[in-house]
Amino acid sequence: MLNDLVLVFNCGSSSIKFSILDPINYKKYLFGIVERLYLSEAYVTWCINNNTQIKILGNNITHHQALKCIIEIIFTKYDDLVSKIKYIGHRVVHGGNELIQSVIIDDTIIQKIQKNSVFAPLHNPMNILGIQASMQYFPDLKEKNVAVLDTSFYHFMPECAYLYAIPYKLYKKYHIRRYGAHGISHFYVSKKASRLLNISFNHLNIITCHLGGGASITAIRNGVCIDTSMGLTPLEGLVMGTRSGDIDPSVVFFMHDVLGKSIADIQNILTNESGIFGLMQGLTSDFRYVEQKYYSSLQAYRTMNVFCYRLSKYISAYTAALYGKLDAIVFTGGIGENSALMRALTLSKLEFLGFKIDNNLNYNLDNKKSRFINKENTTPIIVIPTNEELVIAQETMQLFL
Ligand code: AMP
Repeated sequence: MLNDLVLVFNCGSSSIKFSILDPINYKKYLFGIVERLYLSEAYVTWCINNNTQIKILGNNITHHQALKCIIEIIFTKYDDLVSKIKYIGHRVVHGGNELIQSVIIDDTIIQKIQKNSVFAPLHNPMNILGIQASMQYFPDLKEKNVAVLDTSFYHFMPECAYLYAIPYKLYKKYHIRRYGAHGISHFYVSKKASRLLNISFNHLNIITCHLGGGASITAIRNGVCIDTSMGLTPLEGLVMGTRSGDIDPSVVFFMHDVLGKSIADIQNILTNESGIFGLMQGLTSDFRYVEQKYYSSLQAYRTMNVFCYRLSKYISAYTAALYGKLDAIVFTGGIGENSALMRALTLSKLEFLGFKIDNNLNYNLDNKKSRFINKENTTPIIVIPTNEELVIAQETMQLFL
């Protein structure tokens, strides 16, 4: 007999993840992803009972088409699960200054998510498409849709961390400040670390690194996030797949004044043509390639070094922000969970802070579960597979209990 289930949508700019979960028993019945939206040969893969299936969708597939296809798969193949879906949770990337915690979605909330698209143009509009599709295809659950915000986790950051040193009125009037992103993932892995370390969450001092297509790092003191690398938008901070992360704002003026680029061009360069992709001279944004070619290609060597150096600087800074009192550091996300070389290169620069990686544990890539990779009696270094869907499902159900 199945419990009530939650359908979760995570609509990104070029992919849509979906899952059906029982958040009380931590059980994921179905999960899947549509990839390569708007490119050639988009496809959907989904997994149920350890059985993975794939369907090719075609070229230039839009969000609308992909969502319709996901719903069709769920309705036609998994009718038994559909009847148990009682709530629908949506990842929403940017809540701005108004949406500060998970919320049941109505028209006003959709308008607020829309308003915040200005801060997350690649994400919020896609999140809304997921919400609208859910309301259309599950009309009986129209009032059971919940927005779980990536920005909520940062709500209690201190002023010194969220204010930019620009005219204060720009903050007061237009709310220009650091909001952060990836909060759902940082929340999940820090909670998981608290259990693994046997330290209560409100006493936990930890640094979490979410390193995937997007990348961000947070410092958490006594269970509260006190700083994070992403800013007003998810463009600031670490080196990412195609995003630049931190740069001198004058680079923008130079591109505009000297190179004659429009603001839209510059936004595109910094968002879609920079980061790993930019350093790899447009060859790839796939970190697996960078790792494979590290010893044989100058480009890959250079890219890896910029990536790890930037990350190690942030880790040092956040160790200072935590007054050197650090219970652990966590790596998660596609790169953080899988790239042993990246972890080794980053932390080898930081032995003076007490990080000593155990090479055997670090390179044991067969183990896909949460694991410690530090030497005995040194600061815990933990690899934790993230589980944003579970947090979204739990938050969603929580609002109706
Ligand atoms: P995510 O956004 O969390 O799905 O992560 C995507 C990133 O993780 C891409 O840059 C992938 O190249 C990278 N990635 C995935 N698997 C691996 C792996 N086994 N080794 C290194 N990087 C990986």
